Amino acid sequence: MHKQNRIFVAGHKGLVGSAIVRRLEKEGYNQLITRTSKELDLRDKRAVDHFFQTENIDVVFLAAAKVGGIVANRDYPAEFIRDNLLIQTNVITAAHEAGITKLLFLGSTCIYPKFAPQPMKEEYLLTGELEQTNEPYAIAKIAGIKMCQSYNRQYGTNYISVMPTNLFGINDNFDLHSSHVLPALIRKCHEAKKNGSSSIEVWGTGTPRREFLYSDDLAHACVHLMETYDGNDIVNIGVGKDISIAELVEKIKAVVGYEGKVIYNTDKPDGTPRKLVDVTKLHSLGFEASTSLEEGLHETYRWYLENYETQA
Ligand code: GDP
Repeated sequence: MHKQNRIFVAGHKGLVGSAIVRRLEKEGYNQLITRTSKELDLRDKRAVDHFFQTENIDVVFLAAAKVGGIVANRDYPAEFIRDNLLIQTNVITAAHEAGITKLLFLGSTCIYPKFAPQPMKEEYLLTGELEQTNEPYAIAKIAGIKMCQSYNRQYGTNYISVMPTNLFGINDNFDLHSSHVLPALIRKCHEAKKNGSSSIEVWGTGTPRREFLYSDDLAHACVHLMETYDGNDIVNIGVGKDISIAELVEKIKAVVGYEGKVIYNTDKPDGTPRKLVDVTKLHSLGFEASTSLEEGLHETYRWYLENYETQA
């Protein structure tokens, strides 16, 4: 990847894509191409083909996806599998047809088996059953990984796939029905504090463990790997540490300054009991995440406060 390359960041409005754009700009890549979903619907093959045939793109960061938390995945499985398969198939196919040899595909750690040994190594892919709540999403992501690897094998491209752990940061989705746990808890604590409520509701039992990576660290890792890694194997991106949802609640209460009670609603799903990735490979490739969970939480809450009106 060179500074003068024309780089398409698909999904630049989202949590991941916006962080990748910030990182690329910081590193002096100044030919960035972006399209909103209104300007270019990546599910529309003809539109995507036309875009790649006319834009003279050199490199692609494929950060566009239909994403959401545990309940959104449970309630809208058809959209999660369909939109993701369409987006990634259209982009990868059109990129290849346009002669692009360098692409980064964003996967997810939910591609690993539900009861995989922890921390999860890259080689555990396809060694057991998936978690039911997000299986359609995970199957789409696995198809994306296999598609990149198949193109590499057959056509000699260098399409790399990375598996980020649970992400958070600025531009996150704070909608309580579709968001992931961390932004949901920031919002719940903030609103409870503002409204003087004596308690907040947290889904599940509070015992599941999750690992949280700040989106700017993910973006830094993605750019680093695009500059230095040309292997065919997937690479986990995480921090190598996890905490329980109950512990996360306490940290967020402290950042927001909320002191009320926590009520666990066990009618909502817990999902997979633990999701921690092995980051040995990432470290051996020369990258280590540097933002602490507390720092990331403070930054995210600051952003939430400044942008709250547009999210509400
Ligand atoms: P997952 O990592 O794919 O399971 O997705 P989530 O981030 O949506 O959920 C992680 C865990 O947090 C699950 O055990 C949820 O039940 C729990 N959780 C607790 N409160 C909330 C909430 O308000 N929203 C979400 N999305 N999850 C919550």
